[in-house]
Amino acid sequence: MEVLESSYKKLMDKVKNLLIFQSAVSIIHWDMETMMPPKAINIRSQQLALLSAIEHRMSTDPEIGKLLDNIMRSPHYEELGHIQKRNIYLIKKQYDEQTRLPEELVAAIAKQRAITTDVWKKAKAAKNFSMFKPELEKLLELEKKAAEILMEVKQTKTPYDALIDIFEPKMTAEAIAKVFGELKEGLVLLLRKCEASLKKPDTSILQRRVPIEIQRKIAKELAKTVEYDIESNTAGGRIDETEHPFTTGYYDDVRITTHYHENNFASSIFSVLHEAGHAIYEQNLNPEWIYQPVGTACSSGFHESQSRFVENIIGRSKEFWSYFLPKLKEITGNILSDVSLNAFVHAVNEVKPSKIRVEADEVTYCLHIIIRFNIERDLFAEKISVGELPEIWNQNYKDYLGLTIENDSEGVMQDTHWASGLFGYFPSYALGNIYSGQILVQMEKEQANWREQISRGNFSPVKSWLVNNVHRYGNLYDPADLIKKITDKELDVKPYIKYLEEKYSKLYDF
Ligand code: ZN
Repeated sequence: MEVLESSYKKLMDKVKNLLIFQSAVSIIHWDMETMMPPKAINIRSQQLALLSAIEHRMSTDPEIGKLLDNIMRSPHYEELGHIQKRNIYLIKKQYDEQTRLPEELVAAIAKQRAITTDVWKKAKAAKNFSMFKPELEKLLELEKKAAEILMEVKQTKTPYDALIDIFEPKMTAEAIAKVFGELKEGLVLLLRKCEASLKKPDTSILQRRVPIEIQRKIAKELAKTVEYDIESNTAGGRIDETEHPFTTGYYDDVRITTHYHENNFASSIFSVLHEAGHAIYEQNLNPEWIYQPVGTACSSGFHESQSRFVENIIGRSKEFWSYFLPKLKEITGNILSDVSLNAFVHAVNEVKPSKIRVEADEVTYCLHIIIRFNIERDLFAEKISVGELPEIWNQNYKDYLGLTIENDSEGVMQDTHWASGLFGYFPSYALGNIYSGQILVQMEKEQANWREQISRGNFSPVKSWLVNNVHRYGNLYDPADLIKKITDKELDVKPYIKYLEEKYSKLYDF
């Protein structure tokens, strides 16, 4: 038992160092996006290259393999607690994957991702897919090689499943296709009802000019409302500005960014709420598990369930705005003084098919994801080729959303994910919405008056429910087990569709 205990302790010390190291690297990335002066880019790339080489060495240290062996072969292994066993499982999974991928392949992928991302930016600006195509083809070949290796290590059925597993452990394309089929059916039906309604929101109120300085004040007030502390002397958060909003950090230092548009103030409102949802999750992982693999988020889908919960289920609800609209009017002076609660709530919940995923409403958002998922799966199954992407993309947008894509920049080249090698990530966005619907049903059972609390600006009961029932579990379970633990149900689309149906039938009178 003593040998086992000392091996476990040594292993956890190594992992602790790695997690601290990674959190330092993430701050350097954050600085690069928010604060770094332009001239620093060369020195910064060298810093990042060195840091990533060190990180690779740390995470593939043969000593980790030896310690894992000692632990797993110990006659006392079964005496370990389930948290310790989960840590070992997560470390072994990561270690096996990292060590099985040949270093040359990892380096080639990193290099090609940088090239493809760079070319994607230029091709997108030039609306020219043929510029992007050869680099994406090269990247896809490399990613396929890695996926085939990972398929063996992870023992998945297909290479694409191995990629999905990176973001949503144990999830498969087959399981996703099944829930997405049901999701699509429900969403298309809802979309038709909203489109058929004669009641349309006046969205021009959202285009009224709100100076950036005032929008910064709104962001602060929003953070305060959802209890994402950026102001007190014990604050663990802050808000900075970047072109694309993101969240980064761990436990007591979790930062978010937003982007202010003078003629679209709602954009920063919902990005702040979205990112604050991510941040609150990271800040409220079990404090006893800091620097352990169990003390990390469950999956990308679960992360998204928390951001979408705060952004949409809370932040686009009538109750939230019955509290916040008077505040918004106060902060913005006379800009919105004539706007009624109903008009505002309908405007921020307009349902309208759009070409751009990140601008999509709650009803059409997942349709964008389903399109991307089908394409990715077929790419990796070699049913379609990179050259066919624009045509397939445009046909799908016609079929699903009734839209005509004019050029590939508003079509297949709109997102950075494929250019930066994030294949297998897209399904997480829709899974996050599905989880959020199931989580809402459960929360309503235990916090029946949450809407009333929110309408008084009291986010505390909702937040502590999420902390105790979602965040605190960290990475103790795989997503399928966690949703079961929280809701006592398997992954199920119906609660999300029901939530949308109830909300939009009121807004659109159907
Ligand atoms: Zn997000």
